[in-house]
Amino acid sequence: GQCSVFCPTDAISEFDQTSVLKQQIKLGDKRLVVGIAPSARVSIAEEFEMEPGAISVEKFVSALRMLGFDDVFDLQFTADLTIMEEGTELLKRLKDPNAVLPMFTSCCPAWINMVEKLYPFLIPHLSSVKSPQQIFGAIVKTFYAHKIKIDPQNIYCVTITPCTAKKQEIHREEMKSSGFQDVDLALTVREIGKMLREISINWESIKETSFDDPLGKSSGSGSLFASTGGVMEAAIRTAYEIETKKTFPKLVFQELRGLENIKQTTIEFEERNTKGLITFDFAEVMACPGGCLGGGGQPRSHINILPKRIQAVYDNEFSLPYRKSHTNKSIMKIYEKFLNEPMSEISRKLLHTKYRPNAHQSEVKQNSINMFKFVME
Ligand code: SF4
Repeated sequence: GQCSVFCPTDAISEFDQTSVLKQQIKLGDKRLVVGIAPSARVSIAEEFEMEPGAISVEKFVSALRMLGFDDVFDLQFTADLTIMEEGTELLKRLKDPNAVLPMFTSCCPAWINMVEKLYPFLIPHLSSVKSPQQIFGAIVKTFYAHKIKIDPQNIYCVTITPCTAKKQEIHREEMKSSGFQDVDLALTVREIGKMLREISINWESIKETSFDDPLGKSSGSGSLFASTGGVMEAAIRTAYEIETKKTFPKLVFQELRGLENIKQTTIEFEERNTKGLITFDFAEVMACPGGCLGGGGQPRSHINILPKRIQAVYDNEFSLPYRKSHTNKSIMKIYEKFLNEPMSEISRKLLHTKYRPNAHQSEVKQNSINMFKFVME
């Protein structure tokens, strides 16, 4: 997914699916629901020759309504759900002497594809939690469909993402928890930018509107998913406080921020499983430089744009009233009304998934696996 930033010839691009959405809008036979990914709200401004973050997310929400969406939701809300589940899974693994450690994050589909194809021995290390995109689809076509009394087959669920790999993720066999394909269409920031240019959107005059309820209020931790190290920072904030019932002395983990390839931190927990593969308990892996901010579906720009996008993400996180996923009242509410608790039976059914070794594993040369192990150690 890195090529939007790095490919010097502009040879690699997404398969343009804007016509698929236009056709669905024209048909008008389904309720059109959309979710905006954390980094997409930051970079959309670049599609209109502006600096990252220059268009408010509230204006972006209004623009999507103008395109024809009935409900505009926030994938940062489902990122908070990812953290609730992943933090709980990490705590369970830390306490279980037979559990596999370190646990790896699972929200990047390019990383998941790589493990399944090239390093299947790492599958037990992957968190079973779905990405925020896939949690979104599963929640929209169950909880939300039930709430608004609509048959899930009459909902068309779209996501706006920084990622070309997300176009493939929606078609995974496992992503039908609702009984239907959970997400119908994943569009990149570039594709939605093109559609908004076609309707000559006027960002000066467009009014600001809020996300719709009940999947529209996120914590700052949800916004951190946009940037490398952010999932880790968000998970630590929640896992520590759920376990210890104490407030962690610091909120911002500066050592996990920035563009270095490898960053690390240490958190003290009383109990831990000591059978880890390496000295780490939890590792976040994102395929793109800078994380999703440097994704293959982002506006085409120079690599120097990344620090500006990162700053816009941290500004967004700072502006939100709740900074930790478990303190987000909307998250508390959905557990109370629908999911019961993290890793409950229904949470496992809708918010978790499985992985499988892929046929390409036989092509991997042994020395490349050794090299990967060496780098990890
Ligand atoms: Fe997609 Fe983000 Fe992974 Fe890049 S880092 S492949 S944009 S999920």
